[in-house]
Amino acid sequence: MGAVHSKRTTCRLCGGDGFDVAFRLQPTPPANAYVGRDELNAAEPGYPLDLYVCRSCHHAQLLDIVDPEVLFRHYAYVSGTSPVMVKHLQDMCETVRARCLNKAPFVVEIGSNDGTLLQAFIDKGVKALGVEPAENLAAAANTAGRPTRADFFNADTAKAVRAEHGPAHIICANNVLAHIDALGDVFAGIKALMAADGLCAFEVSYLVDVIEHGLFDTIYHEHVSYHSVGPMIPFLARAGLELFAAERIPTQGGSIRFFVQHKGGPYKADGSVEQRLATEAALGLGTLAPFEALAGRIAASSAALRTKLATVKANGARVGGYGAPAKITTLMHHFELSADDVEFLAEDNPLKVGLYTPGKHVPIVGTTSLTDSPPGYVVVFAWNFARSIIARHRKFVENGGRFIVPLPALLDVGAENIDQYLASTAN
Ligand SMILES: [Zn+2]
Repeated sequence: MGAVHSKRTTCRLCGGDGFDVAFRLQPTPPANAYVGRDELNAAEPGYPLDLYVCRSCHHAQLLDIVDPEVLFRHYAYVSGTSPVMVKHLQDMCETVRARCLNKAPFVVEIGSNDGTLLQAFIDKGVKALGVEPAENLAAAANTAGRPTRADFFNADTAKAVRAEHGPAHIICANNVLAHIDALGDVFAGIKALMAADGLCAFEVSYLVDVIEHGLFDTIYHEHVSYHSVGPMIPFLARAGLELFAAERIPTQGGSIRFFVQHKGGPYKADGSVEQRLATEAALGLGTLAPFEALAGRIAASSAALRTKLATVKANGARVGGYGAPAKITTLMHHFELSADDVEFLAEDNPLKVGLYTPGKHVPIVGTTSLTDSPPGYVVVFAWNFARSIIARHRKFVENGGRFIVPLPALLDVGAENIDQYLASTAN
């Protein structure tokens, strides 16, 4: 009915209706809804950000759903602009082609963005089609010679694609299935579209990495699912599918690449699924213990950062920040930081410069701010990239500035310890 926020009452994977709260974060506005100067006085509602675990299948998920029209209004991520992502997608193309039994495959990518992965297949002479709901991205991909259907992927779309092009031997989906509320419809579509000897390879952020590396700030409204292998197996079985491999990959701070075929299909299991299940059991997934431990670590990190900032401010130092990724909205709200604590955020992406962070309205500026008007301290909010950021801004440190790395454990990096820090295995 057009409501911006709604609440699910059933599990996205198994349909169960019993849940435990795994982790309660502070409510936030959508993490990618950066605010323009002329919008600073506009109403900006926050929505609950609580992580639930299904009591039946143990799938970790958000039940508070924000309308995708609102979530993706400011969505500007384009795969082809990141060299690391382009390389990753080329590698994925090779990995998937090597596994596929059909050596003249037809490839369909779900959520194909600007068609970067499609291009990798096309370059190898493989027929490929994207399905991408963002009309501007789909149009740009078509113009670039990367055939793309501007549509949401679901059972109806899958049937239409199959009627027009025949069955797909490879179906890919990268970092889209964690964003989709109606996963049952998507997998009904995969089942309908996939050839008898076909495979589906999809990548999502891995719950084990979220917990092991403390990536709590990747929890925001765009990511409605936090996937692990255990709950996926019965879900796929109900869709007439089966998992035959599950690889851990480093993308997005730690992801998993699932390989799926028709139930009883031709691909042999390689033991990776059992390895993942063993890791998940050892971590205690299926219980609330790993989430409680993570919550404790996050609370300690929050207290350490707040104490540090209070101390340096009491000594008269100015404090800035580095990086304005989407996850900063979760971190700043949960740590209760404001523009009073962090004067500005220096950001590499020119599309974000001149905007303000959602809810907290910290101004985003270019990285020349570190040399033009250097603050005494800079908090690295893109903390999982802290080492490369600090290495690139050694000059700031040599001129007397200090970096604070807030997570996974607080570090204060200055001229006396930068070499030791950069040589360490910390972030
Ligand atoms: Zn469930």
